[in-house]
Amino acid sequence: FLWTPKLARWNSTEASLQKEGQTPELKDGKGFKGHDMLAPFTAGWQSNDLHPLVIEKSEGCYVYDINGNKFLDSLAGLWCTALGGNEPRLVAAATKQLDTLPFYHSFWNRTTKPSLDLAKDILEIFTARKMGKVFFTNSGSEANDTQVKLVWYYNNALGRPNKKKFIARAKSYHGSTLISASLSGLPALHQKFDLPAPFVLHTDCPHYWRFHLPGETEEEFSTRLAKNLENLILKEGPETIAAFIAEPVMGAGGVIPPPATYFEKVQAVVKKYDILFIADEVICAFGRLGTMFGCDKYNITPDLVSVAKALSSAYMPIGAVLVSPEISEVIHSQSNKLGSFSHGFTYSGHPVSCAVAVEALKLYKEKNIAEYVKSVSPKFQNGLKAFSDSPIIGEIRGTGLILGTEFTDNKSPNDLFPPEWGIGAYFGAQCEKRGMLVRVAGDNIMMSPPLIITPEEIDELISIYGDALRATEERVK
Ligand code: PLP
Repeated sequence: FLWTPKLARWNSTEASLQKEGQTPELKDGKGFKGHDMLAPFTAGWQSNDLHPLVIEKSEGCYVYDINGNKFLDSLAGLWCTALGGNEPRLVAAATKQLDTLPFYHSFWNRTTKPSLDLAKDILEIFTARKMGKVFFTNSGSEANDTQVKLVWYYNNALGRPNKKKFIARAKSYHGSTLISASLSGLPALHQKFDLPAPFVLHTDCPHYWRFHLPGETEEEFSTRLAKNLENLILKEGPETIAAFIAEPVMGAGGVIPPPATYFEKVQAVVKKYDILFIADEVICAFGRLGTMFGCDKYNITPDLVSVAKALSSAYMPIGAVLVSPEISEVIHSQSNKLGSFSHGFTYSGHPVSCAVAVEALKLYKEKNIAEYVKSVSPKFQNGLKAFSDSPIIGEIRGTGLILGTEFTDNKSPNDLFPPEWGIGAYFGAQCEKRGMLVRVAGDNIMMSPPLIITPEEIDELISIYGDALRATEERVK
């Protein structure tokens, strides 16, 4: 590799590697280098020294940039455009609602029909257990923030003012507001933000390949993690722990499906100490894993659930919290005493978002989306896992239509490539050059295509992945 000193100083090869991939300048040589956005999850050098990739149009599983270049969108935006880029029924639902009632709120027992309909539909579609009520937010982060407030309100109502701590897991991602970033177990979300908040504790990341002891089976690994969780609870005092939050399959932490028997064992521990279980289904819900919810796949019986993203197939911002009947009853009686349940957002239950989400849920049912994912996911999983032999791949993992690739040397979780080699970034750029967008996080690559992806598109995805992998192997040799 030949790195310019400047690139080395950034401690990232992404700049040069991104340049090697797509050049998102406009055809007349102009671009948007040094644009005016303080861009989310983007470094200063990226927006100052590189042109952003400006996406202009979407169609099914593809997006187009402003130069007309076409990309297979292997992450479905940010794990969210489940129904692809131009579902006319979602557009029609939004347009119709905008024409009739673009906005009304849901405060003070005023509300709109789409929000009432959507709450009912969500309770119907979630069958892992009977849930009681639905609270609407604008995003997954707000849903998880709301979880903390609901749980605190609930425990205050029950006269348990000390039962307030939350346990989340290392490498989890729950969002980027103050509280949801605190719950997240990714150091970058805490660094220099003075987080996590002191009431949040983190327990083990359930990544078997990376963290199992020599000779330990998946089941034994799960037993050890459940024991560690119990020890943490005992150390802190069970009377201080309010809730445990987990993604059924960890997404942004690198796509980490749970090891065998994990959820069975951690659920037993939290139940034993009267700790609520919050399922963060923001990525997993609505078919991604080949079941309607992650809770269905892993036999999770949650007290609270967060959803967002595919709820509207991302066509409009919306998130929701599903609340168990026991908790919603307590919240109702507490609010009767206080005069109101004083939590909510201007756009909680936004009628346009809700109208789109109602239509999205209809489409999931009509398309039998979970079954469809189940039918095409072996092609996706097996096709990509066939590359596991690559000398630069440590592990490929996933289930349903979500998959992560981790580049390491010698097949070992401990032999990381030097970060300045930028293997992940190089692979990402090679995909981009060949017409596919993937999520790169260090040497982790993540994919979660739209759930409507066809077998032919899966073939294309696998073929681009294979070519980009060969180019990356060449580069490493
Ligand atoms: N929870 C999970 C599991 C997520 O993956 C995300 C986003 O990627 C969030 C919460 C936060 O959602 P949002 O970005 O809509 O705030």
